[in-house]
Amino acid sequence: MTGSGPDLEISGAWLVDPASGREGPGDIVVEDGILTGVLWLTGAEAEGIGPDGVVVVPGFIDLHAHLREPGNEDAETVATGLAAAAHGGFSTICAMPNTTPALDEPGVLALVRAAAAASGSPVELLAHGAVTAGRGGEQLAALGELADAGVVGFSDDGSPVRSATILRAALAYAGALGLPIVDHAEEPSLTAGAEANDGFVATVLGLRGWPSAAEEMAVARDLAVLADVLADVPGARLHLTHLSTAAALGLVRRAKAAGLPVTCDVTPHHLALTDEWVAGARRWAWEATGDPWSDGAIVAGPFAPSLRVNPPLRAPDDAAACLAALLDGTADAVATDHAPHTEVDKAVEFGLAANGISGLETALGVLLTAVNAGRLPLARAIEALTTGPARVLGARSRRAGSVGLVEGAPADLVVFDRGARWTVTADTLASRGKNTPLLGMELPGAVLFTFAGGRLAYEAPGN
Ligand SMILES: [Zn+2]
Repeated sequence: MTGSGPDLEISGAWLVDPASGREGPGDIVVEDGILTGVLWLTGAEAEGIGPDGVVVVPGFIDLHAHLREPGNEDAETVATGLAAAAHGGFSTICAMPNTTPALDEPGVLALVRAAAAASGSPVELLAHGAVTAGRGGEQLAALGELADAGVVGFSDDGSPVRSATILRAALAYAGALGLPIVDHAEEPSLTAGAEANDGFVATVLGLRGWPSAAEEMAVARDLAVLADVLADVPGARLHLTHLSTAAALGLVRRAKAAGLPVTCDVTPHHLALTDEWVAGARRWAWEATGDPWSDGAIVAGPFAPSLRVNPPLRAPDDAAACLAALLDGTADAVATDHAPHTEVDKAVEFGLAANGISGLETALGVLLTAVNAGRLPLARAIEALTTGPARVLGARSRRAGSVGLVEGAPADLVVFDRGARWTVTADTLASRGKNTPLLGMELPGAVLFTFAGGRLAYEAPGN
């Protein structure tokens, strides 16, 4: 029988299926949009097939992406954001609610969904609702109505939930609705006017320091409030997004060990880049050796506004802690914190530039760089982009329970060539946000195909 869905056959690839914990040589067949064949090869058939060539994995899930529509379509639209997602291998993304107006009531969610439908993209667009009305931090948003409308969590991201009292109420209310509070952990009284990670690099460059204590204090507060709420609302759940410091990750590690229902994610840029980049270094976090000025690491000009991000790029030991958290499961997922900006909002002095890195299309390449350096097993990298975030989302994705290479399910997968290196340029990015410090750099792992929900979301030119 022939239908209208796409077909694809990949033979002799390396399959990674975190859902079953299996990886190895195999073939896959997609017929009419359905993954009809997943064949694991053994013996002579498997010979010569390694993990360095074409790799097939489940479609990626991003827990944290900023799409800028409504309100700032010059920076990104829902359509361009979904195109960027597909190009990066993501078949499901969660949009953050800090649009203009904020996604604090179902009408804004309806707008975003209409834009997604109009784009024709098969990438699944989920959304977090705001915790407080207008993200103003003063009063709770209509959490019940937002939950009924289908948001997957609540966040004032861009800002923390400022008041501990409101955080307590939000954790209780959202917990009763079965949804997590997704907090951006930052103690604002410590970061007012801060420009770059507080440390050696900021001191030498004369930038105002952004202390790691600002993140640690916020995480400690959030965990304390969570523990308190749990007595009344056992369903309360906290997700801490884009953690960037050894201290904060240590708190989460201990909280998890104590049984608190907390999850967290780290970003590709916080585990692979460091504050040295602000000085002009362009070596990966695990290559840092100390003073970048004395060991020849400075190859670019200082103060590139594309490196301005919140939380800031940290010192190498914090980046190492992000990687360690990913390795030991303290971090449940890698999230991109895709934050596209216009050139105008970035083309100002470092401390005034808009915070954020356009990250959907480079996440895979940055993680594969860590894999190639022997710092991260390939299977763990894929897990952190698939089953890890799926567990955080629970049943709220259309793929709940089937985030894997599952025969008979609608094809939802990524095919990438790990050996194919590509150069990040403004033209190669589907996102309107060209604000990435990786422009001009080569990354491994070009995406060949992305399938989402049984439809072809991205196909590399020439395939
Ligand atoms: Zn944030």
